[in-house]
Amino acid sequence: MAIEAYKHDMLRCTRCSYCKWIPWENFRNTDFIKGCPSVSRYHWHAYSAGGKFNMALSFLEGRIGYSDSFLDVVYKCHMDGSCDVSCKSVQDIEPLQLMQELRIKCVEDGQVIPAHAAVIDGLRKEDNMLGKPRSERGKWAEGLAVKDLTREKAKVLYHAGCQYSYDEELWPVVRDGLTLLKDAGVDVGIMGHAEMCCGGRAYELGYKDDLDKYAARHANIVKASGVETIVTPCAHCYQTMKVNYDKIGKKLGVEILHITEYLDRLIKEGRIKLNKKVPLKVTYHDPCHLGRLAEPWVHWDGKETKVLGQMIVHDPPKKFRRGAGGVYDIPRDIIRNIPGLSFVEMYRIRACGWCCGGGGGVKEAYPDFAIWTARERIREARAVGADAIVSACPSCKQMFQEAIKETGDDVKVLDIIELVQQSV
Ligand code: SF4
Ligand code: SF4
Repeated sequence: MAIEAYKHDMLRCTRCSYCKWIPWENFRNTDFIKGCPSVSRYHWHAYSAGGKFNMALSFLEGRIGYSDSFLDVVYKCHMDGSCDVSCKSVQDIEPLQLMQELRIKCVEDGQVIPAHAAVIDGLRKEDNMLGKPRSERGKWAEGLAVKDLTREKAKVLYHAGCQYSYDEELWPVVRDGLTLLKDAGVDVGIMGHAEMCCGGRAYELGYKDDLDKYAARHANIVKASGVETIVTPCAHCYQTMKVNYDKIGKKLGVEILHITEYLDRLIKEGRIKLNKKVPLKVTYHDPCHLGRLAEPWVHWDGKETKVLGQMIVHDPPKKFRRGAGGVYDIPRDIIRNIPGLSFVEMYRIRACGWCCGGGGGVKEAYPDFAIWTARERIREARAVGADAIVSACPSCKQMFQEAIKETGDDVKVLDIIELVQQSV
């Protein structure tokens, strides 16, 4: 779909600004009702989803062209989809898809920013988003007795993802995740140095061809390894393999699970027992890529027709993804089952969660904005009295750790894997 396909949506955007906030029925504390980090930070309508609809329409009709301001609006956005959920609580239009297509159009026209171009150069050379040597990809698993799926067979492929593979501060988490599976008797293996990027972040930056390429490569990995299930501790890899590969018609044809889903299964089967008390008051941050963005893709192949000169009708009727189909209950179930732990919710949760700051290439291009967004979430965690903020994504953990390094806040930042590991 090109941006032209969203012209009706651009015209139907009512300029109501609902996309700037979480849906009103979810307001629980007036200090935490903003939904869009971009417009909250830059205080200018263009940075909101509605503003981007206006801008795209002007672009399409030739009233504006590319400029530094145009690119600033396009790229100072986490692509987290809070706007999409809020807008779709009142409208049947597609803000996030328009933003995705805008980025793809910018890339096609060579309108990229240097920070993103550097990331993509590194990806194309080394098959990872950090531009690190391909040969070091499997180092995180050194010393763990695990099957190497380039030589052996297993039912489950544990896909670490780029960030877990190269960020040494995160290695204890990704290692714990694998250890939990192995100790529960799961027939699991890794690709080690042969693992590669899922292509999801590149797609988010607008580089669609790279998503196509990595989807095809992962199809080959699945075929050659014969695995039945892919389990990943990375929320973004999960969302990419489950949703985006389906969106572009390249489903892998195996079960794709986030590690929280697999751990939950193992806990319910009694193969992981949560015995030890973890005396902490925690809150849970919904990663965007495990929550609203992970809602299964819904294919629609129909046409939009204008009736009575103004109403747009979808024929056949279109089912909209409104964010409710993400993974929300499972992480909370796991947390609530850990003995000794007390759980408190923040004000913006589930489909209305506030972004951690790690998405959309903002971290790479505008680190101050990314940290600002993360600090806002830490402030919310503190407002509900949590001693620890728990998430289920390497990006979230990294962003919150960066934020507290700046503020000196002593809130603990944990991945759900670490909580489970402490309890077994
Ligand atoms: S994008 Fe949706 S919520 Fe935002 S102004 Fe337009 S119609 Fe309203
Ligand atoms: S994706 Fe996030 S940052 Fe971008 S416009 Fe929507 S809510 Fe704002």
